[in-house]
Amino acid sequence: MTQYAMEVVQGDITKMQVDAIVNAANTTLLGGGGVDGAIHRAAGPRLLEECKTLNGCPTGQAKITGGYNLPARHVIHTVGPVWHGGGQGEDELLVGCYRHSLRLAQEHGLETIAFPSISTGAYRFPLERACRIAVAEARTFLAAQDQVKKVYFVCFSEDNAAVYRKILQEAQSFG
Ligand code: ADP
Repeated sequence: MTQYAMEVVQGDITKMQVDAIVNAANTTLLGGGGVDGAIHRAAGPRLLEECKTLNGCPTGQAKITGGYNLPARHVIHTVGPVWHGGGQGEDELLVGCYRHSLRLAQEHGLETIAFPSISTGAYRFPLERACRIAVAEARTFLAAQDQVKKVYFVCFSEDNAAVYRKILQEAQSFG
């Protein structure tokens, strides 16, 4: 079951027609660069207005808003850890990003969710390590509940998508 419930997509996450796309935000939730900037541009200014009411978000946690002008109905904003070498709880915080985002989707009755590669851009988390965390968390979550049915991993670059495909295949071949 779970092998069909996760899929790697190469492209722009703002174009995804899913119940929720996940934003790799910062603790202010007031916008930034990278995927955060792209999501705010595509969603329009009402997204920022709603974000202003949320009082930010701690690292490793997640908050949900509307999707406004996006094809996605919701945006789940999560704050990934900045990579400091791995000794400052970065792995556990990144696990928290995936787990809390998926829980929010479940609590809101959502079925499809698309993640970017959280923390692997400006926050410099090593890609393969982040990817293993993403795939392991999604796999465990999907196996444990029936509400969320499909998890997309959306990679801007083909190089990143190739890493995700490799790790997804590894996870699947170990049953
Ligand atoms: P962080 O600050 O959490 O590291 P970034 O936005 O800097 O977040 O980067 C996270 C990942 O999102 C990077 O792999 C980057 O290439 C990717 N990215 C940037 N824009 C988009 C987009 N429109 N759709 C999908 N992925 C994107």
